Amino acid sequence: MALWDRVWQTGKSMVVGHAITMREMLHKPVTVRYPEEKPPFERGSRSVPVLKVNEESGRLNCVSCGLCERACPPSCIEITQAMDEKGRKKPWPETFQLDLSHCMVCNLCVEACPFDALEMADVVELGSYQVQDLILQKGQLAEIWKTSRALRVAGGERL
Ligand code: SF4
Ligand code: SF4
Repeated sequence: MALWDRVWQTGKSMVVGHAITMREMLHKPVTVRYPEEKPPFERGSRSVPVLKVNEESGRLNCVSCGLCERACPPSCIEITQAMDEKGRKKPWPETFQLDLSHCMVCNLCVEACPFDALEMADVVELGSYQVQDLILQKGQLAEIWKTSRALRVAGGERL
């Protein structure tokens, strides 16, 4: 390429680049100043699976059938069934643990549950610098579900 062509191309790309920069400076930003500003949780997005609570009984819907545990590809759910003193199974989990550090938010556990006991939450601020904080027990999962539900109600969503 001749010297004059190179000078012309360089000058042209500088003018075009600055014009694009100036145009974008006049637009409203598409980003927000998180965490001071929080964007709305878009419908169709999903966070992590949490345990639903029956509002009448106050108990979990979970009957400890173990289907979600078997459906989870990275094995991040661990359940132990409650037993009575005679060793008979009770229809609720003694423990229900979810390891968020392995969860890939695939929704397969929710789809596998025949008792409407799991739901993907709308709560995203669950991060921690300590990996052990990401191992959640049934009480914590139920609390996140309640927070998620309250956010939906506050957002005007019909439940
Ligand atoms: S969303 Fe997927 S990875 Fe996470 S617990 Fe459910 S099945 Fe497992
Ligand atoms: S599939 Fe549903 S009812 Fe069965 S253990 Fe999992 S959450 Fe509980």
